[in-house]
Amino acid sequence: TSFGFRDVPKTEKASLVRGVFDRSARRYDLMNDLMSLGIHRAWKDMTIERANPQPGEVLIDVAGGTGDLARAFVAKAEKRRKTRSGGPARAIVCDINEQMLLAGLKRGDAAHLDWAVGNAEFLPFEDNTADCVTIAFGIRNVTNRVTALKEMRRVLKPAGRFLCLEFSRPTTRALERIYDAWSFNAIPVLGEAIAKDRDSYQYLVESIRRFPNQDAFADELREAGFGQVSVTNYSGGIAALHTGWKI
Ligand code: SAM
Repeated sequence: TSFGFRDVPKTEKASLVRGVFDRSARRYDLMNDLMSLGIHRAWKDMTIERANPQPGEVLIDVAGGTGDLARAFVAKAEKRRKTRSGGPARAIVCDINEQMLLAGLKRGDAAHLDWAVGNAEFLPFEDNTADCVTIAFGIRNVTNRVTALKEMRRVLKPAGRFLCLEFSRPTTRALERIYDAWSFNAIPVLGEAIAKDRDSYQYLVESIRRFPNQDAFADELREAGFGQVSVTNYSGGIAALHTGWKI
């Protein structure tokens, strides 16, 4: 392809993370729906709305898994081609785990998509490659977040936009109580029943707790060099969209 791929050294990746997704890749799409009661679809739609895909643009979807955001980005830009000039948008789904990418490929419907195995902390792309970089439910698993944020900024073109969708902190006490009950009790049980893997889903729940809150994570975007950082809460802060620009 004409994308600027670069060679990166083989590094020791967080093996626990890799193990979690290796084991659950096949049932991943189903678990995603169950864990969020299907709401992750609406959050992803709103994220792509904000990404504002245009004909001819290039998206890199980091930790892109089976390619939900990449597909939505390309499809939305395609709709716009009916009224606006320009070629099709293209998206590269980049993920550390080949199995996730293969599961995505098997889903079909992969026009204008490319698939690249890569670590968010050492992205296999040249500087200034993409108009837009997204990461959904991926930054939480990265060992060094600021390193990854700087990498995602590096591969953006100047004035490019960055959007990060991630679980965050419920903004009211009442919601927090319901959410705690759901995530600490129901999710590990569902993980056992559906994926036969309670520990991995327990780990996912704990990783959400350890992740910084909305304001602290916004500061990390600024530390990585993003400008005009903004935060939008979804479903009362169960998830949040952080955005920033390469300026
Ligand atoms: N973005 C997709 C979505 O929203 O459906 C997938 C999200 S899934 C919860 C997290 C993904 O992050 C997995 O596919 C996993 O392999 C990937 N991942 C974990 N650590 C990563 C890293 N350091 N670099 C790139 N991808 C990573």
